[in-house]
Amino acid sequence: MAGGFYTADLGSVAPAGVFREAFAWPSPPIAIRSRAGGRMSQDSLMIIGGQWGDEGKGKVVDLLSGGFAAVVRYNGGNNAGHTVRFADRRFALHLVPSGIIHPGVTCYLASGMVVDPSGLVGEMDKLVGEGVEIDGRIVLSPRATLILPTHRALDAAREGMRGADRIGTTGRGIGPAYQDRAQRRALRGHVLADDPSTRRRDAMALMEQHNHELEALFGAEPVDLEVAMAELERVAGRLGPLVAEVGPALRRHRADGEAVLFEGAQGVMLDLAWGTYPYVTSSSCLPGFAAASCGIGPRLLGPVIGVMKAYATRVGGGPFPTELDDATGEGLRERGAEYGTTTGRPRRCGWFDAVAARFAVEVAGIDAVAVTKLDVLDGCPEIRVATAYRLPDGSAVDTFPADSTVAERLEPVYETLPGWRRPTEGVTRIADLPAEARDYLGYLEAKVGAPIVIVSTGPRREETLVRGDGELERRLRELVAGG
Ligand code: GDP
Repeated sequence: MAGGFYTADLGSVAPAGVFREAFAWPSPPIAIRSRAGGRMSQDSLMIIGGQWGDEGKGKVVDLLSGGFAAVVRYNGGNNAGHTVRFADRRFALHLVPSGIIHPGVTCYLASGMVVDPSGLVGEMDKLVGEGVEIDGRIVLSPRATLILPTHRALDAAREGMRGADRIGTTGRGIGPAYQDRAQRRALRGHVLADDPSTRRRDAMALMEQHNHELEALFGAEPVDLEVAMAELERVAGRLGPLVAEVGPALRRHRADGEAVLFEGAQGVMLDLAWGTYPYVTSSSCLPGFAAASCGIGPRLLGPVIGVMKAYATRVGGGPFPTELDDATGEGLRERGAEYGTTTGRPRRCGWFDAVAARFAVEVAGIDAVAVTKLDVLDGCPEIRVATAYRLPDGSAVDTFPADSTVAERLEPVYETLPGWRRPTEGVTRIADLPAEARDYLGYLEAKVGAPIVIVSTGPRREETLVRGDGELERRLRELVAGG
């Protein structure tokens, strides 16, 4: 990559002193190796979605991950979809952490994930086809939950039964697999490394239960278990050798002075407990879950960067107070190419919701924000931001309610900011942004309660700027320059 894309923003609004506290590393900084072979005195980092998913985490992780020895996925399954661009290539990754694009980065799938073995092998094959060297670089936790074809069938049958109350699942078996995990009957990663007769016994027993449920509860067609078993055997040979404990490996990285990047899937507003329940994903999207998923202490996780679009989107049903059902929303969808990476479904689009964003900052402990897709707002004559909500009876609501039937009725209270005339697309220096765009970022930062340290102005890696000059920002600048 050519150098000089990422220029110091010395002129931006300095984050309020209160945030400085949050940037103190949770433990003494350790040295990590840069890809260039030099050493940087830094620690681990976490990147999560700060809205309803699809915030552009893939680009941000990809941008930074070259400076880490390891990238970890800790929640969700192949319902997540990251689009990563590299040179002229475009990678859609669903299970494998985006760090795979960088040579030398080891990618971990931790115990809190639900992994479809066939999906994982398909993704590995695609990466190999694109010329990415993956040997010895993917590690699957023996404690991760496996998704079987019968989970997918159950997912489809259950969603079909819900009719108008559809949650909008991706139909990939994620929910039923997490349900089996909680019911303590799931198959886990180690099954892929077991001997074939044990695997057959355990897989058949579970899938027979699933088939019974499909027929008895949903009146659905059972899955052909011999076909499902043959498929599992085909992929077990490939995946068995990848199965290894994640926690001890991360502790080894740490002992070797190497830092780890934790990559969250979905976003805070889709979190099982803190999102718009029941229109949420089946796992936790909060940083704390990474520690539980990897089997490491929470102090190893590092500062949390929350990725947020300069506007808002969500896929599927559920509360979305700032949704625009008009030409402006359609314009955001078209300019932002807001169609799901995994499903191709059009995303619902709306203005930036500062109440939801601030809520996400608080519940997830987001230390700093990466704003993506600023360029999508180019050409908007004015830009709105929701700063409060009202209920139909006129009462004010200043945080995100727990009850989604209440959240569905929220009317956003907007503040209106001027748009900008010059495009921001591809801008890499804060000084080159139109004044209105700089003001917009300063405004968001104040409303959201965390400093904006990264701004993305296009899908490509180099269409990025790092904002501010604190310790975290300096480190981010080093990471993107080394990427
Ligand atoms: P993720 O799941 O959070 O990684 O998000 P997705 O990959 O589903 O969606 C992000 C999409 O937006 C991808 O197609 C990216 O290439 C694209 N993208 C990321 N950042 C920017 C940006 O700053 N501007 C524009 N125009 N597109 C972006």
